[in-house]
Amino acid sequence: MPIFLQSEAYAPWLAPYAYGIVLMGIAFFLFRVFENWFASNFDRPLFRHYFVYRKLSPSQLKILQNEFVFYRMLSEKNKKQFVHRMAQFLSEKKIIGREEVIITEKMKVLVAAIACMLSFGRRNYTYNLVDFILIYPDEFYSAINDAYHKGEFNPREKVIVLSWKDFEKGYKIENDNLNIGIHEFTHAMQLEAKQARDLDSARFSKHFQAILKQLMRQDVKDQLDKTRYFREYAFTNQYEFMAVLTEYFFESPEDFKRIFPKIYEHTKKLLNFNFADY
Ligand SMILES: [Zn+2]
Repeated sequence: MPIFLQSEAYAPWLAPYAYGIVLMGIAFFLFRVFENWFASNFDRPLFRHYFVYRKLSPSQLKILQNEFVFYRMLSEKNKKQFVHRMAQFLSEKKIIGREEVIITEKMKVLVAAIACMLSFGRRNYTYNLVDFILIYPDEFYSAINDAYHKGEFNPREKVIVLSWKDFEKGYKIENDNLNIGIHEFTHAMQLEAKQARDLDSARFSKHFQAILKQLMRQDVKDQLDKTRYFREYAFTNQYEFMAVLTEYFFESPEDFKRIFPKIYEHTKKLLNFNFADY
């Protein structure tokens, strides 16, 4: 005998669930609309953090406290968020040594700390275009342009390459406007902003355009010529300009603000950076 499966035309027990699902759908849609409205009006995401807090190991936390000034300047709440983000970053990315570099706990902590500092104002903080970080002891040979590099971002391989010697100098010397870690992670962030459609990327693109507009003003050009504040390399192309700009933003915020207040303000908004004394 064939089995007969009768379809129920009306299942009263399902109705309340169906209503619930529809209502939840509408609520979620309205929330998304509100969230987008908020982000475009106030230039920052409605919230940056969910209610989850991962932790670092005690030894990692100790390195962070001892070595990373920015962390010490954060409020207790922001410290918790920062640690969570670093733990998340370290669980997602693979850090690999090259030319006999053995990856130490300190290397892991500092790479994650720099990356998470740069993206701390964002909700989307983990760098979708980076899966690997390769660490060389010193400047390394790059086939891309047949030269030695201190750092490199390769989006096709989803890799950031760093010379450890220069990375260390970058974060130890805090006011020379050189920070290779910040520089390379900015490249990854900027390319992500070009490709992605999330709130952080939209904000990045908006303020980057505003910065480019600033650069076309005659008074700003004169100020660039007169002060020679940004190193020449910044003017290689717009990607290098942005990467150098963030180095200056983190290393000498006071000078930057004084000499180019508008560009500083847009950089701050682009990163949504309202922490420590920035
Ligand atoms: Zn660069």
